[in-house]
Amino acid sequence: MLIKRIVKKTLNVKRHKVLKVVEKGDQIEIHMDVCKRRRLPCGTCQRLSAQRDRLKQRRFKHVPLWGIPVVLLYRPVRVTCTVCGGIRVENIPFSQGKSRMTTGLLWTLSAMAKILPWKTVAQMYQVSWNTVQAAVKQAVDYGVNHRDVGSVIYIGIDEISRRKGHKYATVVYDLTEKRILWMGEGRKKETLEEFFKEHGKALKGTLKAVCCDMWQSYIDVIEQNVEEDVVMVFDKFHIVGHLNKAVDEVRKEEARTLKKDNPELLKKTRYIWLKNPENLTDKQRSRLGYLEKLNLKVNRAYLLKESFRDFWDYTYRKSAKKYLAKWFWWATHSRLEPLRDFAWMLRGHQEGIMNYFKCRITNGVTEGMNNKAKTVIKRCYGFRTIPTLKLALYHCLGKLPEPKFMHRFV
Ligand SMILES: [Zn+2]
Repeated sequence: MLIKRIVKKTLNVKRHKVLKVVEKGDQIEIHMDVCKRRRLPCGTCQRLSAQRDRLKQRRFKHVPLWGIPVVLLYRPVRVTCTVCGGIRVENIPFSQGKSRMTTGLLWTLSAMAKILPWKTVAQMYQVSWNTVQAAVKQAVDYGVNHRDVGSVIYIGIDEISRRKGHKYATVVYDLTEKRILWMGEGRKKETLEEFFKEHGKALKGTLKAVCCDMWQSYIDVIEQNVEEDVVMVFDKFHIVGHLNKAVDEVRKEEARTLKKDNPELLKKTRYIWLKNPENLTDKQRSRLGYLEKLNLKVNRAYLLKESFRDFWDYTYRKSAKKYLAKWFWWATHSRLEPLRDFAWMLRGHQEGIMNYFKCRITNGVTEGMNNKAKTVIKRCYGFRTIPTLKLALYHCLGKLPEPKFMHRFV
């Protein structure tokens, strides 16, 4: 009796009832029936219609109970629908379409797939990997159809690689809600154009700023697709990344020239120059102290890098601009080619860099999400294809809505 009640309650059915619950073999069979004479929603148009006849019995795999497999047995009803003008199958409340699983099981699988490798989920619930994928897909489809993208103010555009140095994907984040909005294969012009084709309209009116790297293909597409008053801000973290790369190039170059006379001097110093000084270990700090006394090129690059940090702290745009001009002079007169190149790159993108003082957004939050994305990718090494990867990322990082009426089985 108790199980019958629980089944009815968790399935949340109003026009259907639990006939009996029996143990058969090693599984629990739940026989469902319809309440006679109740009008049922038509499977096509949802209009409540009169019952006509029954189809043959179908079996629906349901959420296991204490590790025991559970099956629902039910003969779907055909209704006479006046709207559709004919005989239609009812809208079965606990399953969808031709699925051989209950909606409850599908949402359970997709919920578990958020935190566990899909393979593990498949083993736990004795279904195939493809079933788990299908469950995630229906959850993502539902979420994408029901999510609200009409209130996005700031977006961040970034790229992630599937494996180190391998294929890239372009990802668009909602910086306020900290969620993935979109992902596309590649990092070309066409990739980002695809995003604006899908969401450009919905963003109009609310979008205030876009944060991205100084990447010409992206810049072109953004300029073509957003309204004039939308601010394009070049991402602080990407800029710092470029600067760090320049410093590292100076170190590498100098290490090469020192190889003959003093091969040990710059060995294992890479992170000493790249880290912020407050994050250095005691050992690294004392080594830096020693290296600073030598007249090294990399030390000059390091000082330039450190002084660039002050740029971000300015409150007023004008003062920041003045400082940037000063820094530009230092860098271009440093006789360090990588730093000079970096400075010229800044000059070429000055407006977007200065926009940071108009709108202080960075892709900093995407960094955290990128790390999570990497975990998702690693956890599910079954993702050989981009569409599956996209599915997994939307699922884990899209903050997609779920239906509310459902009982949560996990
Ligand atoms: Zn109908």
